[in-house]
Amino acid sequence: MRDHMCKCLECEEEKCFRFGRPYPVYGQHFYRYCAKCCKDTPHTMVLTKKIAADLRRQEEERQLQESIVRKCESYGLSCRFLYRLVIITTPVSSWQFDYHESRKTLLHESTVKINFQTGDPAKVHVQFSKKMSINEVIDYIAAHDKWKQDHK
Ligand SMILES: [Zn+2]
Repeated sequence: MRDHMCKCLECEEEKCFRFGRPYPVYGQHFYRYCAKCCKDTPHTMVLTKKIAADLRRQEEERQLQESIVRKCESYGLSCRFLYRLVIITTPVSSWQFDYHESRKTLLHESTVKINFQTGDPAKVHVQFSKKMSINEVIDYIAAHDKWKQDHK
C-alpha cells in the first residue's frame, strides 16, 4: 500500500489517500470522495518533493538508456536492458554490465568454457579491473568483437 497526497480537481482540496496495486502514476485522474464537494470527484496526485524526485530519476534513467542505445547503434550493435544491466549483442558474442555504477564487472561469455586457474566450468569471465566510462566500455566491446570477427 502507498499513501499519496492528492487533490480534488473541482475544488483543489488536498487529501491523503491510500492506494493498492496497480499504483497510480503522476498525472493520472481517479475518482475519490471529496468532503468539500460532498461527492465523488476526479482527483490527481499532488507533485510532492518525493514524486518530483522519482520523476527526475525516471527521466535520468530514460536519458541514460537512450544514450547507450545511440552509442550501440553507432557501431551497428543491438542492446536491451534487464533490471540494472545492459546486454549488448554483437555479431559474434554478447556482453553485459551494470550501467549505473563504476564499470568494474564487465561480464563476457567465455569462448573457452573453463577457468584455467581453478579448472571449474566458466560461462563468463570478468573483463576489466579498472573503472571505465560507459562509452569506453562500448568502444572496447565494438573493437574487441570486430577484431574477433576479422580473425575468425
Ligand atoms: Zn472537491
